Amino acid sequence: MSDYPQTQLYIGGAWRDGSNERLSIVNPASDDVIGTVENAGRDDLDEALAAAAAGFAVWSQVSAFDRAKLLHTAAQLLRDRVEKISTIMTLEQGKPLAESRSETLGAADTIDWFAEEARRAYGRVIPARSLNVRQIVIKEPVGPVAAFSPWNFPLNQAVRKVAAGLAAGCSVILKGPEETPASCAELVRALVDAGLPAGALNLVYGVPADISNHLIAHPIIRKISFTGSTPVGKQLAALAGAHMKRVTMELGGHAPAIVFDDAEVDLAVRILAGAKFRNAGQICVAPTRFLIQEKVYARFLNGFVKAAEAIKVGNGLDVGVTMGPLANGRRIEAMEALTTDAVSRGGKIATGGERIGNRGNFYKPTILTDVPLDARVLNEEPFGPIAVVSPFSTYEAAITEANRLPYGLAAYAYTTSAKTSAALGRDIQSGMVSINHHGLALPELPFGGIKDSGYGSEGGTEAMDNFFNTKLVTEAV
Ligand code: NAD
Repeated sequence: MSDYPQTQLYIGGAWRDGSNERLSIVNPASDDVIGTVENAGRDDLDEALAAAAAGFAVWSQVSAFDRAKLLHTAAQLLRDRVEKISTIMTLEQGKPLAESRSETLGAADTIDWFAEEARRAYGRVIPARSLNVRQIVIKEPVGPVAAFSPWNFPLNQAVRKVAAGLAAGCSVILKGPEETPASCAELVRALVDAGLPAGALNLVYGVPADISNHLIAHPIIRKISFTGSTPVGKQLAALAGAHMKRVTMELGGHAPAIVFDDAEVDLAVRILAGAKFRNAGQICVAPTRFLIQEKVYARFLNGFVKAAEAIKVGNGLDVGVTMGPLANGRRIEAMEALTTDAVSRGGKIATGGERIGNRGNFYKPTILTDVPLDARVLNEEPFGPIAVVSPFSTYEAAITEANRLPYGLAAYAYTTSAKTSAALGRDIQSGMVSINHHGLALPELPFGGIKDSGYGSEGGTEAMDNFFNTKLVTEAV
């Protein structure tokens, strides 16, 4: 696998090895070990912390105009390198090459968006009660950031944190995903090659809990940003709370997708099937609980099963493949356990429901029906290619089920009624509600959840606010 690079740490302006034993990288399509990633020890982390402190002193003094120029250059480098980066991503993560390309180009768009936001991060002047008093609100970068990004979108989960933090003038220590490290490292390389000063961005990999325990508690770090599972997010938020650190948490979801009798059913099938099985369902905003009103239930299910069976599962590098393997063996075990549990409680398999072969982490696009509410799959985030389809009768029943879980990240609905559509926007408890299309995750849109899905936004103007302190300066002149 000559196309796959060995991944190093990037600390204080230098690519270098870590002091712990390297970790192996496995291609999820073949189970072959294709490379290694360096593994940071405590000394490496301390050097990254010192570098981030020094980098902050330099980078926070660079003008917003020049920060934006550098970020735009990095975005263009990602575009220039799209073929190389996408191939690396598919080799280590499994997703089809077309999805890796779109993720890489999307990361470039995200950098461009935050570059422009850097130039528009205005403060304000507040009218005073006395004529000789001036009251100014200034936004200052919060300080060095510890960012933790996962393996499902090696570039796009990292870029939301890194680009927003750098745009605001913060320095960043990024803990990249240990299982999919090389494409994430290409994001760092593009920013370094664009001229980022030493220490402004540092990249580490290692034992996640060791790194987060050390970085979050350390006084140099002023802000935490994490994307991952709800249980880990709660632990990290508690640790951050103990040290009074600012936090953004982008955690798990279990998105309802509600299709009403008056919906354009074929449109709903096409868009929801695409959203469900993209990245083999390993997406925090993937639709998972399909609630279909009774009159269109059979038609939706029929179309959805056909769409699932038309998916070509295989190695993401092969032409025509539309769903790759799951990114790691843990997901296969989870899919098997969730399916077995649902079936043991009376659930039926409309299609799929099993692993494909025994080499690589391939699992059939799976649709379950007749699943009772106490089944694990209707309560735990599946994070894989499993959809559960259930009928409902009334609007109120659909909303009750949509809001039943502690998650509140994304929700989808299809209806041609303007009245229903407006009511859904009001009644669904979710950070994002997308009606009659799949319209999430663009850099200019807020991206984040409520309830157990976390807090803070990783998109839109709101994302920059996470990286600023608000300072009031009031002066009598
Ligand atoms: P996991 O919960 O152990 O890890 C999830 C992510 O958190 C990984 O990137 C991991 O490196 C990181 N992590 C774990 N413990 C950590 C710690 N103590 N400090 C810092 N980072 C830590 O499980 P997993 O098997 O990797 O993923 C399974 C579940 O995670 C999925 O079912 C899904 O719910 C969730 N997940 C969510 C997202 C998302 O986009 N929100 C991404 C990846 C995984």
